[in-house]
Amino acid sequence: MEKISNIFCVARNYSAHANELNNEVPLAPIFFMKPAGAVVKLANGLTPAITLPLEQSSVHYEIEMVVQLKTSYQAKLPLEESIGWMGAGIDFTLRDIQADLQKKGLPWLAAKGFKHSAVLTPMIPFVDEENFQNLNFSLKKNQQLVQTGNNQQMIFPLRKLLDYCSEHFGLEKGDLIFAGTPAGVGPVYKGDLLELFVKDKRFGAFTVQSD
Ligand code: ZN
Repeated sequence: MEKISNIFCVARNYSAHANELNNEVPLAPIFFMKPAGAVVKLANGLTPAITLPLEQSSVHYEIEMVVQLKTSYQAKLPLEESIGWMGAGIDFTLRDIQADLQKKGLPWLAAKGFKHSAVLTPMIPFVDEENFQNLNFSLKKNQQLVQTGNNQQMIFPLRKLLDYCSEHFGLEKGDLIFAGTPAGVGPVYKGDLLELFVKDKRFGAFTVQSD
């Protein structure tokens, strides 16, 4: 993969997840960002302990599909002309702090952009749009299946997300897109084992440690 530039994340892109948090299904994609310094990359075959601010708030996992651009975005061309890699990631969220910030109309950064809030599996080459939009992915916590998604359930498919992002914010080589989480988000606790799967293949694993 490339050196990471900007990290764009979309909120509420699977309607079952929007419903579980009592949010309206949006008419246009809602983006927020994470700093590149928030990323932890997982390596094949290793299960590192990742520290999270468990004492601050309820820390929720959100498994998401992630893609990375290999060049600036080429709208209207096949997506594989712009996207080089794909994998899975966790968009960790301080849920109580997020709710408080939302209530006060403040930015989400403190709830979404903290250190280690973006965990990334090793990435594989991106095939094409059709392949991506049919992928299934899932998250196991302590060997229990807690989230499953299929990209057919995306409210805004990948091309729409990239078109919108490119038009409004600009998309560059190295940018990551977190494509949204399906239903089933929930808290993590010290010692939890999280395993991320794409197409039923384990892409990465780690355990949760407190600061
Ligand atoms: Zn998310």
